[in-house]
Amino acid sequence: MRGIVLVVLLLLSGSVFYGQSEDEKQIRAIYDAALTKGKAYDWLNHLSNQIGGRLSGSVQAQQAVDYTRQQLDSLGLDRVWLQPVMVPKWVRGTPEFAYIETKPGLTTNVPICALGGSVATPEKGIKANIVEVQGIADLEKLGREKIEGKIVFYNRPMDPTQISTFAAYSGCVDQRYSGAEEAGKYGALGVIVRSMNLRLDDYPHTGSMSYGEIPVENRIPAAAISTKGAELLSTTLKLNPNISFYFKQSCKQLPDVESYNVIGEIRGSTHPEEIMVVGGHLDSWDLGDGSHDDGAGCVQSMEVLRLFKETGYRPKRTLRVVLFMNEENGLRGGNKYAEVARSKNEHHVFALESDSGGFTPRGFSFDCSEENLKQIQSWKPLFEPYLIHMFVEGYSGADIGPLKNEGLVLAGLRPDSQRYFDHHHAENDTFEHVNKRELELGAATMASLVYLIDKYGTVPQSVIKG
Ligand SMILES: [Zn+2]
Repeated sequence: MRGIVLVVLLLLSGSVFYGQSEDEKQIRAIYDAALTKGKAYDWLNHLSNQIGGRLSGSVQAQQAVDYTRQQLDSLGLDRVWLQPVMVPKWVRGTPEFAYIETKPGLTTNVPICALGGSVATPEKGIKANIVEVQGIADLEKLGREKIEGKIVFYNRPMDPTQISTFAAYSGCVDQRYSGAEEAGKYGALGVIVRSMNLRLDDYPHTGSMSYGEIPVENRIPAAAISTKGAELLSTTLKLNPNISFYFKQSCKQLPDVESYNVIGEIRGSTHPEEIMVVGGHLDSWDLGDGSHDDGAGCVQSMEVLRLFKETGYRPKRTLRVVLFMNEENGLRGGNKYAEVARSKNEHHVFALESDSGGFTPRGFSFDCSEENLKQIQSWKPLFEPYLIHMFVEGYSGADIGPLKNEGLVLAGLRPDSQRYFDHHHAENDTFEHVNKRELELGAATMASLVYLIDKYGTVPQSVIKG
């Protein structure tokens, strides 16, 4: 009897999970192809080592557009095209220079870099006393009398107790983004911001900033200081609050220039009107070569389409790769893509972004309805053999954000984040810090999710409401 029950159970589970075993096979084929015949790493090598940092409006950004377009052309997709978009052009100028002066003539150099979008210092630089704060809220407590004529030094570190380093970043980045706008209102001459980095090292980390509505003539220069430099400055200040700080930078905002989003697609076999997007941003900061941020996300997204071709799976829905321009200092590419999609009445059902580094994938976070999240979470067992376990509600990605509407499923690849901010926006965001297998596993994980979305579809808002 027990034997018969067992046989019946085996037969039942076989038939119940028959569909899943097809899925298991296809996902296995995707990972095998990514790990044995992957192209992502070679593409990243070219982007990083032949082209380099790809700041919007730069020659390298244009080279990256040409290169990725040509590579997509070679994949035999149904269509590859460039979508024009005007982007800001900010240039760093000559390397920045800074020192702490403890006594007249007694100076110690510290590594700094201008924040993206900052104005230059006067040609001879700025030298002034320093006032250290832990955040923007401290400015009001100190008041104009203690800030006017000084350099404000924002030194709140990223919180090391946060397990997601992105949460630690979110808790700090207001100093970088709005620090100059706010300190300028109290008469500060400039701002120095502790780098968004959990590690103590000598790399300053750049990143975007904004002056809000402050007119050009009232803007004050802003620079990031390395975490070691920040520690030294803070310690020196404690010994003697009257020390001076000097910095000089010659960065400049130039008129907008034309650039492009690079797009390729495989047309859906049965629901071509339903569009699925995978993407990353092709621009990067200029200090490193933008390997993790976000060369990795670009080549993984290209690889998703190539893996579909490689494994002979033709999607039922239209699958598009979008390499967005200008995420770092403007988001113009993401906004343009959404604007064109809306004007053409395109029906996007799914968008997935990879912009958290090329590290070991852990899973995804989703910005979608509860019904869709439930459906996606039911696929978790399929990912277990690949140690992918994270399927949570949360943030998707900056470039796909503007597409957001009620029915759309937005998703972000979530790699392990522990080392990301060692490199983010710094000179050491370079190719040798990307591990080939980790990069490939990320691409395969993305392709597997896209495959399941394509096969089973998303739950439309009309069904949820009905
Ligand atoms: Zn990025």
